[in-house]
Amino acid sequence: MARHEFQTEVHRLLDIIIHSLYSHREIFLRELVSNASDALDKLRFLVLTDEAYKGVPFAPRIDIRFDEEGRSYLQVEDTGIGMNEQDLIENLGTIAKSGTNEFLSRLTGDAKKDATLIGQFGVGFYSAFMVADRVEVLTRKAGEEKAFLWVSDGKGEYEILPAERAGHGTTVKLYLNEQGKEFASRWRIEEIVRRYSNHIQFPIYLHYTEEKEGTRTEVEKQLNAAVALWRRPKGEISEQEYKDFYKTLTHDEEDPLFWLHFKAEGTLEYTVLLYVPSSAPFDMFSPHYRAGVKLYVKRVFITEDDRELLPTYLRFVRGVIDSEDLPLNVSREMLQEHRILATIRNAAVKRFLQECTRIAEEDPATYERFIREYNKPLKEGLYLDHQHRDVLIELVRFKSTKVEGYTSLAAYKERMKPDQKAIYYITGGDEKLLRSAPILEAYRARDIEVLIMDDEIDELLAPVIGSYQGVPLKAVHTRDAAEELGESEEEKRRREEKKDVLEKMKAVLKERVKDVVASSRLSDVPAAAVLDERDLSPQMQAILKAMGQ
Ligand code: ADP
Ligand code: MG
Repeated sequence: MARHEFQTEVHRLLDIIIHSLYSHREIFLRELVSNASDALDKLRFLVLTDEAYKGVPFAPRIDIRFDEEGRSYLQVEDTGIGMNEQDLIENLGTIAKSGTNEFLSRLTGDAKKDATLIGQFGVGFYSAFMVADRVEVLTRKAGEEKAFLWVSDGKGEYEILPAERAGHGTTVKLYLNEQGKEFASRWRIEEIVRRYSNHIQFPIYLHYTEEKEGTRTEVEKQLNAAVALWRRPKGEISEQEYKDFYKTLTHDEEDPLFWLHFKAEGTLEYTVLLYVPSSAPFDMFSPHYRAGVKLYVKRVFITEDDRELLPTYLRFVRGVIDSEDLPLNVSREMLQEHRILATIRNAAVKRFLQECTRIAEEDPATYERFIREYNKPLKEGLYLDHQHRDVLIELVRFKSTKVEGYTSLAAYKERMKPDQKAIYYITGGDEKLLRSAPILEAYRARDIEVLIMDDEIDELLAPVIGSYQGVPLKAVHTRDAAEELGESEEEKRRREEKKDVLEKMKAVLKERVKDVVASSRLSDVPAAAVLDERDLSPQMQAILKAMGQ
């Protein structure tokens, strides 16, 4: 039938996968099994909710077969939703996912870093071409009569041919290349499936033959437990199982930083299992970020890209929310306004922030790693989520003139001088410049701590915080802050001396400045421009200018 060309992005992706993932070839199996599991999830959902699929039998299973003798092929078969011709063109010839370009532009060429990125992204199907020089996909969509065979050598083109298949589902057959031969092995397959796919909810069977009393017999062995881990009692799940499940869920190669698992059994019944990745997701600051929490209803997978499951600022969190009370056929539009979901979401956020608080207190090393990755989104939360303000304000951290790393506002307050009236801060884009700002000299001379606010969001955040436990936050640039600082005898004498010079400068600068005053706050540099309290800071002026104001 028809020959097709891969989309340009697919070309690039294929190229990158084949050339940078050679040390992680085994992930192809994880990706194929994960696709099979997704296909089963999709079918189960339709069978339960869509009249049109009522008569379709659902007998979920994933079967792995391989050529024991010649090591020529390996195949992964599922009884899932399957694909028709159009699905094949859309799913296996293009990359529809938003954020793909972003992902491609992030790749560094450093195999190790790229492998983590690719792990997070889940490049999926195309990774088959790392171990195969020809891939065949025999598939038939549930509820449809026609089957199709998709064939490609991964070199730019693919073909789709009419075919025969007994039932619905998909068989992906890899014709192994030299590097792929090692995977046509019972032990290798078992090991990889255990490592990456142990927590897949559907049974995965491996087929091989065994020598028994002189005769070869066919064996079908189930490799995984096939239960939803989050439904098991907390006390029975080991650390390793939690970590493995995280990896199955996210395709991340690193262990999670920490996790939170709880069950609610009141008027509403639901289970929440949330993870924090060790490294921030690469698309955390992209508008196309992928939401990372999957919604299940009674163990049936509903959706994973719903951004309403957690507030935007917690977009780095991964995990599962499973509800007993939501209707299975809840639509996406309905989800956003669903009262039950709103309740679950609130509880999940509250418990998650509580857990962060606990870690901040009990495990400072972990909390520091957490802050290095997620301080910015937490600050967004403080800016946007008024409901959880009191917790978030204790969780965010700032750099400061007095501590290495980060400080909390609480710790700053502890260190304040007895007569100190405010929490002082300086904002700007460059930490080094801020730290050497002339205006800080007077603070240094008086041993007063100043927060170094160098995140973009700080500029907006500081006024929103306003005050912490009754102590106002004040920018060092304001005259108000300067007045509070006061003047020593020596500083006063020096100021008097300068009076004449000041008059002259004022005459020269005229309306370009509001005033020229002597400052007691500088010791190493001759002059500094300062702001009136009501003036916008230079950064804010720049932002407004950029917006055409
Ligand atoms: P992802 O799984 O992240 O969407 P993949 O590259 O792994 O990306 O797969 C691309 C798409 O191909 C899937 O979204 C799915 O629509 C389709 N697909 C892949 N494998 C199967 C399968 N076994 N059954 C049905 N559809 C599949
Ligand atoms: Mg996939």
